[in-house]
Amino acid sequence: MLAEELEQLGATNVRMSEFCMVYASIPGNTPAGKQITPIGFISHVDTSPAVTGASVNPTVHVNYQGGDIVLPNDNSQVITVAQNPILEEMGGDDIITTDGTTLLGSDDKAGVATIMTMIDVLMRNPEIQHGPIAIGFTADEEVGIGIEKFDVDAFGAEFAYTVDGGTLGEISDETWSARMATVTFGGKSTHPGTAKNIMVNSIYALGHYVLHIPREMLPETTEGRVGFIHPYIGSADVETSTLKVLLRDFELEGLEAKERLLRDLAASTEQQFPGVSVRVEVKDNYKNMKEVLKHHPQLVENAFEAARRAGLTPFMMPIRGGTDGSKLTFRGLPCPNIFTGGHNFHSKLEFNSRRGLEKTTETLVHLVQIFAEQ
Ligand SMILES: [Zn+2]
Repeated sequence: MLAEELEQLGATNVRMSEFCMVYASIPGNTPAGKQITPIGFISHVDTSPAVTGASVNPTVHVNYQGGDIVLPNDNSQVITVAQNPILEEMGGDDIITTDGTTLLGSDDKAGVATIMTMIDVLMRNPEIQHGPIAIGFTADEEVGIGIEKFDVDAFGAEFAYTVDGGTLGEISDETWSARMATVTFGGKSTHPGTAKNIMVNSIYALGHYVLHIPREMLPETTEGRVGFIHPYIGSADVETSTLKVLLRDFELEGLEAKERLLRDLAASTEQQFPGVSVRVEVKDNYKNMKEVLKHHPQLVENAFEAARRAGLTPFMMPIRGGTDGSKLTFRGLPCPNIFTGGHNFHSKLEFNSRRGLEKTTETLVHLVQIFAEQ
């Protein structure tokens, strides 16, 4: 459907890959002789598997006048002002929610809708000058395996923006730097009936280890720019116990310090439990895209300027996770992330609004103009 609509809008080079990626190009319209670097826009068509996205029944609350929003088909689902103070700024807007039984899918169909509308605006208003634009609609973002199939070389842009963020004005050029540690505790198993002075039970070493991870370094005790250590799965057995631990930090030094902490804790656990060996293996998951994007400051500067021209107050929001954009950034397509106006992603309480979509679209239209001006 998107490929068809892109053709109807006048996009060129529209194609869909065997991996369900849709690509298209919008030729530039600046006077001949003016070379403008091609700019890309990317959003994902899949929605989170956390809540069903089948038979979504969007509900528009026209001219919202404040107060909690009870969702029509499940009265236990309530978008409260207490939990969503942003509602206090949304008087008079038309708020788009679910009927309470599904997610909305604004993550990231809001990105798709605003990019498509941007193309429509550009086609209807040829006086708006812009360089060549590459469009990419991707699949399997939420399960983290789609973007490997994205054809960066054929895409046709030298940098891009994922339109996959939240609150109006929120722009991101940072993700976690991420590592995963596997801690293996080696003990000695024997028949428990004849185990005296022979058995070494590695489970106690595992228990000691987990309990000595500092409480103030956990996902449940940190936020903002503070990284964490997250023991998330393991197995307990007399002979061999294992623990998998996620390490997350925005700074490489912070990540190093967390890895050191795990290794020091392994050494002290070995001392506490004679006969138990504790081995720590660490591998890199992904890196903070800022490492690359810091060399392309104009991408974020121009996004800020575009948001300001749309009447918004832009702000930086580091992403406490990884994104398709971070993977693309390290594959040679620098890729900050831009808001969509959406809230409460991956939940039945997800919502967006008319103004959210309009202001996001305006920002994208300003953004291509700003690059053309430069
Ligand atoms: Zn998303």
